[in-house]
Amino acid sequence: MAGIDGPMDDALVRLGRYLHPGTVSPDLRALYQVGGRRGDAFYRDRWSHDKVVRSTHGVNCTGSCSWKVYVKDGIITWETQQTDYPSVGADRPEYEPRGCPRGAAFSWYTYSPTRVRFPYARGVLVEMFREARSRLGDPVAAWAEIVSDPVKRHRYQSVRGRGGLVRVGWDEATEMIAAAHVHTIKTHGPDRVAGFTPIPAFSMASYAVGSRFFSLIGGAMLSFYDWYADLP
Ligand code: SF4
Repeated sequence: MAGIDGPMDDALVRLGRYLHPGTVSPDLRALYQVGGRRGDAFYRDRWSHDKVVRSTHGVNCTGSCSWKVYVKDGIITWETQQTDYPSVGADRPEYEPRGCPRGAAFSWYTYSPTRVRFPYARGVLVEMFREARSRLGDPVAAWAEIVSDPVKRHRYQSVRGRGGLVRVGWDEATEMIAAAHVHTIKTHGPDRVAGFTPIPAFSMASYAVGSRFFSLIGGAMLSFYDWYADLP
């Protein structure tokens, strides 16, 4: 866990050792408690709550599913699907329980030190892009060189799914993305750019900006439902 976000985050996680009863493992990932029913306290505490509120999930989602969110001392502790939807009739299946695995994990994700809050890019790709960008002096030329070279292209494509992501700045991330778009449009045509933009029901502004972008460049607009495949 160490080294994920910076010294302050590490220090906060390490401080937790002194706030929990029991023995914390050296890597800070496990807490051990030994002894009769007292050992159950950890589990009872884990699922305890002082109120239940109705809510949903608002990050890159329509936020259409109804959830019971269990809260203790103002902190989300866990959640379960609501089961009080109006009936859709006797001759068809009811909606409930409704919700996706991503939503079910949301109460953990919300406070996780591994929550993604910054842009990350494939390390080997970033290295090649920086080298070509500084040598050629132009981001589009740099991107074109990398994707047109079979050896360089293989270097970053072949490591997909194996981690190796590194944190990059917003300016560099957006420049790489923009360079890729410009190169694809110049080389193959704008209709080879296809994407979706979240999410009309939750953020009209972000949806409008993304769909307008695709419209203006002549790209192909997909539906975000193609991505998370829930309700429809
Ligand atoms: S689709 Fe998933 S993330 Fe979105 S509101 Fe439903 S359960 Fe939550």
